[in-house]
Amino acid sequence: MSEKASQLAVVSNKSFEALPAVNLQHYDISSALQTTLEFGELISIFSNKIQATIPHNSVEYANEEFDMDFKRGVVGRHSCTYALKVEDKQLGALTLTRSQRFGKDELAILEALLCCLIYPLRNATLFHQALKRAHTDPLTKAGNRGAFDETLQREIKRAQRKEQALSLAFIDVDHFKSINDNHGHHGGDIALASVAGWIMETVRATDMVFRYGGEEFCVLLPDTGEDGAALIAERIRLAVESHTLAYGMSVLHLTVSLGVATLGETDNADSLVHRADKAMYLAKKQGRNRVCAA
Ligand code: GH3
Ligand code: MG
Ligand code: MG
Repeated sequence: MSEKASQLAVVSNKSFEALPAVNLQHYDISSALQTTLEFGELISIFSNKIQATIPHNSVEYANEEFDMDFKRGVVGRHSCTYALKVEDKQLGALTLTRSQRFGKDELAILEALLCCLIYPLRNATLFHQALKRAHTDPLTKAGNRGAFDETLQREIKRAQRKEQALSLAFIDVDHFKSINDNHGHHGGDIALASVAGWIMETVRATDMVFRYGGEEFCVLLPDTGEDGAALIAERIRLAVESHTLAYGMSVLHLTVSLGVATLGETDNADSLVHRADKAMYLAKKQGRNRVCAA
């Protein structure tokens, strides 16, 4: 029989009293969990620490807010899942599995021990939320300039280490001043947020979109050479051109000019940005709403 025994419960800081028998273990687990703010590490530490008390074959931690599905071990037939929360803050769900059914007493102990995990998970959540906010442009939800500078350095090192291509596309909205002049700054802001949304919809999940400044965006394209970069840039150009934006009684048509550059052997972050930017200005000079390669 391969029926799956599944227990689902909500564990919160208020939902139970710790059992005296696990007090010592509480202290040990809590200390170990103070050493990191990474979700995967927290779950691994917790899983290791409770292994002797509640043997399990696999552990899974899912947290939708951070697009996370951490899994370790081989999934067994029986499982127990806990939705974790503290003070109405959702902290994701933890699942343990193994080949034998989980006993009632074991689950009572597990619930008591989960108490140790809740506050470290909340701290990790707050930390990652703050990190995300610090790297995001609030108007367009694209990465901000600081995030771009950091990511570019990291991606250049990665590309060189793995001997992979890396390309950069620079994007500037055409005649953006006239949008501000004709529709006010609010209209301009909505146009910017829309363009960012269209760019993000168009690129792959592994490509990274940033607001470089004002009405300028850039996209980092890992594992992408000259031909691929030109293709994606053209796709972005077409996506913006083919969208219309209704603002009040007006319909706005926007276009962008793009410059692409691919990391060469002698390039560093500054020279790559400079070449992509120069190619973008060439696209402007040649009449806008087009792609130029460095
Ligand atoms: P082109 O790039 O085609 O040469 O013309 P342009 O009019 O887009 O060029 P320019 O770089 O001279 O003007 C960009 C304008 O973008 C200037 C500024 O008013 C506007 N801008 C920059 N940042 C923002 C913003 O956050 N919100 C709004 N509404 N406007 C912005
Ligand atoms: Mg500009
Ligand atoms: Mg512009």
